[in-house]
Amino acid sequence: MLTNYHTHTNFCDGKDSAEDIVKIAIEKGFDAIGFSSHGYTSFDLSYCMKNTAEYIAEINRLKQKYKGKIQIYLGVEEDAFELVKREDYDYILGSSHYVKAKNGIMPIDLGHEHFKSLLKTFDGNRIALAKAYFETFTDYILTRKPDVIGHFDLITKYDEKDGFAFLNNPEYVSLAEKHILQALKSDCIFELNTGAIARGYRTSPYPAINLLHLICKNGGKIMINTDCHNKENLDCFVEQSKLLLKDVGFNYSYVLYDGKFKKDYL
Ligand SMILES: [Zn+2]
Ligand SMILES: [Zn+2]
Repeated sequence: MLTNYHTHTNFCDGKDSAEDIVKIAIEKGFDAIGFSSHGYTSFDLSYCMKNTAEYIAEINRLKQKYKGKIQIYLGVEEDAFELVKREDYDYILGSSHYVKAKNGIMPIDLGHEHFKSLLKTFDGNRIALAKAYFETFTDYILTRKPDVIGHFDLITKYDEKDGFAFLNNPEYVSLAEKHILQALKSDCIFELNTGAIARGYRTSPYPAINLLHLICKNGGKIMINTDCHNKENLDCFVEQSKLLLKDVGFNYSYVLYDGKFKKDYL
């Protein structure tokens, strides 16, 4: 099946309208698509949606209009620092884009320069930063149990540009592994997220390969999402991701289809 449940539109920080994305999805042969605008975050209005009611009405309108041509789902990318009204949505994708730093709640994915200055507020201590990130996120996952866990190791967004300062550090690797084992207890679906590839930050998806192996080995669930912010990238790296998951040892990924999360054999 061809699906994607991590899709941004001009309701938040995406480029295209939801309807333009639906049209492209049909053209590309998608079986189902889910929209996941950034949930409202009162402490940072720079990229969340401000008009939630309008977003919900529009996705519901598109569901009806394109019925029989493609399945459309109304989701939301909820941030761990501010919860949404869960009952408004078909599913929630739970992500963490911030850490609690000395100077307040700070974004971790606002650009490489910003990331470097954030690291300075942790006295250059990457492990302390990663710990702050994973602790908040894992707590959120275990208590909230989102349907899907977004880009689990987003903290490594700029790691290729930083000479793999995280991934080459055994202390980081064991920290990330410890947290993914905890998060696995939630039984939520992890996403393999290709968004940073489309945007040129990375050459491999989230989560890192060692974490994918741990998910697989422990019977965790996985779903392929592109986290696209424009219609051209709706299917970016999807076919390669299926091969990657097969290589890791997964036999199937999860899709939301006919209103339920189900297995789709790779
Ligand atoms: Zn995100
Ligand atoms: Zn996203």
